[in-house]
Amino acid sequence: MIKIHAIGGYDEVGKNMTALEIDNDVLLFDAGLHLPAIVGVQEREKIPTEKGMRALGAMPDDLYLDKKGLRDKVRAILISHAHLDHVGAVQYLAHRYPKAKILATPFTIEVLKTLMADNGHKLSNPLISINPNSSYIVKGNNSYKVEFINITHSTIQSAMVAVHTKEGVILYANDYKFDNSPVLGDKPNYKRLKELSKSGIKALIADCLYASDDRKTPSEKIARGLLEDVLFTTDNYKSGLVITTFSSHIARLKLITEFGLRLRRKVIFVGRSLNKYTTAAIKVGKCPFRNDIYIAAYRNQVEKILKKANANKKEYMIVCTGHQGEPGSILDRMSRHQLPYKISENDHIIFSSKTIPTPINEKSRLELEQRLKKFKPRIFDNVHCSGHGGREDLRDLIKLTNPQHFIPSHGDFSKTEPGLNLSIEMGYKKNYNAHLLSNGQELILK
Ligand SMILES: [Zn+2]
Repeated sequence: MIKIHAIGGYDEVGKNMTALEIDNDVLLFDAGLHLPAIVGVQEREKIPTEKGMRALGAMPDDLYLDKKGLRDKVRAILISHAHLDHVGAVQYLAHRYPKAKILATPFTIEVLKTLMADNGHKLSNPLISINPNSSYIVKGNNSYKVEFINITHSTIQSAMVAVHTKEGVILYANDYKFDNSPVLGDKPNYKRLKELSKSGIKALIADCLYASDDRKTPSEKIARGLLEDVLFTTDNYKSGLVITTFSSHIARLKLITEFGLRLRRKVIFVGRSLNKYTTAAIKVGKCPFRNDIYIAAYRNQVEKILKKANANKKEYMIVCTGHQGEPGSILDRMSRHQLPYKISENDHIIFSSKTIPTPINEKSRLELEQRLKKFKPRIFDNVHCSGHGGREDLRDLIKLTNPQHFIPSHGDFSKTEPGLNLSIEMGYKKNYNAHLLSNGQELILK
């Protein structure tokens, strides 16, 4: 018998975790953090504990597995990609499952190692790197072939995870977009998804964050165009140039670096999380711009390089943290005049990002902008394309994989219900083969 347990990420955007129970074995998909609960904690230098993180509401409630008598049956934790809402909680909870191996692509494993090293966490669970488009046999009472299928998203080496069971494949598709012109890495592996569809997909668990948006999410090549437009058609010859984006978005950082060099500027990455993700990409050989950047992560490095850049702004492009207005980030500290780089009139500040629509992000971001605007810079917002598919991508995913059961995920009902409705439009029936779940609910797949 196969059961799906919704543990986290079904009542909120974040702390993703889904348990797949097959007879006497349990495989977990993802163990993420709820980021709004920890805004500010990341860049500060204090180390939160498991108990602290649970108290903040930042962790998926995996104590659920104890209540269900499933904790000792967990054989593997399968991590889809390196975003904190998917991998961030592993370091806090994997010790509860000593028999479980942790499987992910090399970049994700490297990010996990960095997170653990930063917080002084150690795990005895084996960490197993699986290359995109490769598989591994997880052994429990039975054996399961687990595949990491290459998919495009807003960080590198993202995967759709396929678990082969006697009743068919369980396909976990959090998070994805269908980018047919990626600027780094390969296109989605449509061929393999088609093959799996032919062999029979028992259930698809899919990212419905933007299932209510009538669109196909634009490719990263469109983000390239947007950035190019802002950087090469505005008068910035004498201006300071400050760009902020998601630290894990290696493809975007590649574009930014390329354009910085084309503007004949030195490209400086400033901030701890930029250092974390870029270093992880370098370690797994997936940072083609490694020799084109200088990274400043720690206080004296940061102060020194920003002082230099401030004295000669037109020679530098500053790539920094703080696009969500995170307290303690570089842009936050610049806006408070706490760093030697002084924003002034006619400097260009580019947000190659979108504000994550949660009250805390929106508030921090608005306050950041108000502080920045006192210095009268030019601000270019939303120079960005999302990493999450829209409604038409979801339609393509369902069509392509043709699953027996469909389970929308990655958000509360305001996100998942539009996904469910789309599946109904495509012939699925609610509570029969299309299922809306909340955290703490289980579903038996018939
Ligand atoms: Zn993601």
